[in-house]
Amino acid sequence: MDKSFAPPCTADKPYISVVVPCFNEEEVLPIFYDETLKVLKSINCENYEFVFVDDGSSDSTIKIFRDISEKNKKVHFISFSRNFGKEAAIYAGLSKANGIFTAVMDADMQDPPSLLPQMLKALTEEGFDCAATRRSTRKNEPVLRSFFARKFYKIMQSMSDVKVVDGARDFRLMSETYRKAVISLCERNRFTKGIFPWVGFNTKYFEYENVERAAGKTKWSFWKLFKYSIDGIIGFSTKPLALASFLGVFMLLVAFAFLIFIIVRKILNGDPVQGWASMACIIIFASGLQLFTTGILGLYLSKIYIEVKQRPIYIVKEEK
Ligand code: UDP
Ligand code: MG
Repeated sequence: MDKSFAPPCTADKPYISVVVPCFNEEEVLPIFYDETLKVLKSINCENYEFVFVDDGSSDSTIKIFRDISEKNKKVHFISFSRNFGKEAAIYAGLSKANGIFTAVMDADMQDPPSLLPQMLKALTEEGFDCAATRRSTRKNEPVLRSFFARKFYKIMQSMSDVKVVDGARDFRLMSETYRKAVISLCERNRFTKGIFPWVGFNTKYFEYENVERAAGKTKWSFWKLFKYSIDGIIGFSTKPLALASFLGVFMLLVAFAFLIFIIVRKILNGDPVQGWASMACIIIFASGLQLFTTGILGLYLSKIYIEVKQRPIYIVKEEK
């Protein structure tokens, strides 16, 4: 860890920056702000900053930002021109944050601010570069969502060298070096759950029971989560590409075995024409496999297409 960090009162930069991605969070924002402020005060941290990111909300989220930043000069915000997604919001917040330590927190109170003091201790006293969190249970989560989430982590762990921790949340407190490492990865297809472990450093995990949202609704539908998992696999593994070659070899072996079967049958029965139905099945099966593997290629190609266009990760409409 960078030992040159100045103590809170003498630092000319904030001691802690709190980055909060928000998308239609008018109901929970005031609760979140009050609670987090209380926790920061309880550890005598006056030298803090909030970096709220409005990810194209259509409710009064931006108005709340303007109000609290008017009253408290330590509150900054960025407002996007439209919804760019949580990943873009986290990236924008981390780029704007200037603290010695930076926390990333959801606005809905599912990331308990009360954990912040312990997390800070891990960085200041125990020599960690990052304090991360994971939920110990998937209680209160729909059964199907839980099942697929677990399967996703299993697949991810077997396919990628990056260890994506099961149940890991985006709630983290990180050193400045760690924050800069994270924003140095400026890819468009951002999968933070993979980026965090990819950058390395020493991370301490804190576990806690899943907490329900304080108010409002989750922004993640099942389909959105499914697409997000595909992004994760494509972004952090090239193994699906190897699948095409593997399936090709497999099909060759099957075809060879079939050839021998037909020769033997011809010698025994003398009728090579029989079996058109099985032939039709084989043709359909082989075409299916070909389409499947072409589809995988297409997924990678589409990601490359997005990357080479080098469009900005987000567009700012208002900033303070
Ligand atoms: N969020 C965002 N942009 C989005 C979706 C979500 O900034 O497109 C924010 C949201 O406001 C919240 C956090 O990301 O602060 C987590 O979202 P949510 O609670 O809906 O996800 P869940 O906890 O259900 O995974
Ligand atoms: Mg949530």
